[in-house]
Amino acid sequence: MAGERILLTGASGFIAKHIALQLLQAGYRVRGTVRSPQKGEALRQTLARAGADVARLEIAEADLLRDEGWEAAARGCDVVCHTASPFPARQSKDKWALVPVAKGGTLRVVDAAIKAKVQRFVMTSSVVAVYYGHGADHPPVYGEDDWSNVGAADISDYAVSKTEAEAAAWGAADAASLPMVTINPSFVAGPLLDADAGTSATLIGMMMTGKLPAVPNVSFGIVDVRDVAKAHVAALTAAEAPGRRFIVSAGSLTMIEIGQAVAAAVPECRKRVPRFTVPDFVVRLAAKVVPEARAAVPELGRQKTLLTKPAETILGFTPGHTREAVAETALSLRDHGWLRRDPQIG
Ligand code: NDP
Repeated sequence: MAGERILLTGASGFIAKHIALQLLQAGYRVRGTVRSPQKGEALRQTLARAGADVARLEIAEADLLRDEGWEAAARGCDVVCHTASPFPARQSKDKWALVPVAKGGTLRVVDAAIKAKVQRFVMTSSVVAVYYGHGADHPPVYGEDDWSNVGAADISDYAVSKTEAEAAAWGAADAASLPMVTINPSFVAGPLLDADAGTSATLIGMMMTGKLPAVPNVSFGIVDVRDVAKAHVAALTAAEAPGRRFIVSAGSLTMIEIGQAVAAAVPECRKRVPRFTVPDFVVRLAAKVVPEARAAVPELGRQKTLLTKPAETILGFTPGHTREAVAETALSLRDHGWLRRDPQIG
């Protein structure tokens, strides 16, 4: 309800800035957590530039790795919207590497939410907590009852961290009868609110500057950041939302198709986007020595259907257009000077 105070963790993130903007536009008060005063000031300026009434924005400092700050941040809030989590661009060899921060941090936030007696806990999880590590006998259709298998040999550190954090949150919230909802987006694209790109937009930026001339034969779901933010805002109040995991995705593109959408939006990049698909056997060989290639192996040639009907009926999610979302990211990156990092373009 308008006027209520929402604790938004990781408010400096790509997705969270859109959530904050929509919350402020809907009349909520927002208390956003950041890791430094500089990030807080940058957030305030970004949201003001986007037209939000930042008089209803408060900034709190807290780090997922530390206890300090979370209880004070949650005090007086009506709902918690927890987006903060590490999302590194490079994969670690240790698949458990991100768990202490993602799971430990999430448990700190749930604990603070319980102590503050908030009405609801909304968490940004991911489709990577849904569809990894299932056996070959699992049909290629994934819904909210599916959980990634963290025991799988080829699962990424990021997927393990999201799965473990989400599972831990459900356990703690259920034990305290705290109503909880998760939003599980696929790869998030769309416009940036400022030059701080985040990992998913950075991947598109790498395609724009020729850092990914050849790509594996993998495809993944894509969703517009504005639709992801809308789903979070709806999840704060939708009566039938608690207890549910909502997958949000607009459809799939291969990496080559993502490059084509980038080139169509920003023609000066057309010679830089990926134009070659690396043969599957080469990816499998490379995975033996290159950690980054390992995550691609189980995805080679794999088509997945992600069930988004519950998000459509309960949260009013409308799957947008994948190519347009990618194009908007590319245009935003260009407008925020990304191409100036590569003097050969232009
Ligand atoms: P960003 O990297 O832009 O945002 C991540 C946020 O988490 C930042 O605010 C970051 O703070 C914060 N954070 C990271 N580590 C810590 C920490 N130790 N303590 C406190 N805060 C921390 O990524 P996105 O906006 O893309 O991701 C937001 C959420 O959405 C994450 O939970 C991610 O897993 C999930 N998600 C993202 C998808 C995508 O394609 N983008 C797809 C599916 C899920 P700081 O700014 O200081 O680094």
